[in-house]
Amino acid sequence: MSENLLEVRNLTKHFTLHGDFVSRMAGKSQTLKAVDGINFAIKSGETLGLVGESGCGKSTVGRTVLRLLEPTDGKIEVEGTDITTLDKPSLRDFRREMQIIFQDPYSSLNPRMTAGGIVEEMLRVHGIGTPAERKERVAELFERVGLRKAQLESFPHEFSGGQRQRIGIARALALNPSVIIGDEPVSALDVSIQAQVINLLMDLQAELNLSYLFIAHDLAVVEHISHRIAVMYLGKIVEYTDKKTLFTNPQHPYTEALLSAVPVPDPTIKRKKTILQGDVPSPIKPPPGCHFHTRCPYAEERCKVEEPALKEISPGHTVCCHLR
Ligand code: SF4
Repeated sequence: MSENLLEVRNLTKHFTLHGDFVSRMAGKSQTLKAVDGINFAIKSGETLGLVGESGCGKSTVGRTVLRLLEPTDGKIEVEGTDITTLDKPSLRDFRREMQIIFQDPYSSLNPRMTAGGIVEEMLRVHGIGTPAERKERVAELFERVGLRKAQLESFPHEFSGGQRQRIGIARALALNPSVIIGDEPVSALDVSIQAQVINLLMDLQAELNLSYLFIAHDLAVVEHISHRIAVMYLGKIVEYTDKKTLFTNPQHPYTEALLSAVPVPDPTIKRKKTILQGDVPSPIKPPPGCHFHTRCPYAEERCKVEEPALKEISPGHTVCCHLR
């Protein structure tokens, strides 16, 4: 059996956009290629950081892996079982294995429920335990994520942003999952709180052997927690390797640009500065050839017409660029 807990092959999620009334009447539609044939794997107890600017498709990856969105193509395997084609009842069992922590802890928590009720609901919906057992489990979870039992009856608005994210983590842990997808779980928090939440996630990983797909728009955020990192641009993975290699020897110009925005704690270490020009182009009409050529400082004529393939340039290090 594969040593990978989660394996994703050729994952594709396209959306058909029907546009305005006139376009609909004319039968015209457009395809938004949010995720366009990506591959990655996560081992037990490992964190894969998935990084890219807003609009690159990384959140769609998280939701499609969980089948909150149906994939257009590709395969998602959890512990060797293909969940891509599972029917709803079987998928429900697998949902226990995979949970999600959302970016905005406030909007992801029901404001009319108590914090304890929000976490308990996960257990209730899955028919786990008696009411007394559930209460006990929720109290344990609260303690485990650094909340007090006295806060069980408080409502989401009574908590700080960091505490609300701890409620989200307790909810994600309730069913003892093996994989947690963090969809920008710390992006809405202050930097000091970000570090606390990341440390909590790392402690939980060590204790419970959890695997994480940690989605972020900033390499600095994933540096501490990730074992491997995949960099995404316009629906595709453009570089994929272990954390150390990515930070010391980035090979894709987009990775280089994202890295140049990460502060270096040692002033004697100089990092090459690459400033990205403009925004991510529309995924409805991505640039031809290499999708990055409109912003790449090394672009050549060939890059405008020929799409580069993802190549393994050294064991475990893949890059999608004509120059590599
Ligand atoms: Fe830049 Fe060309 Fe490489 Fe694309 S293929 S990243 S445009 S050098």
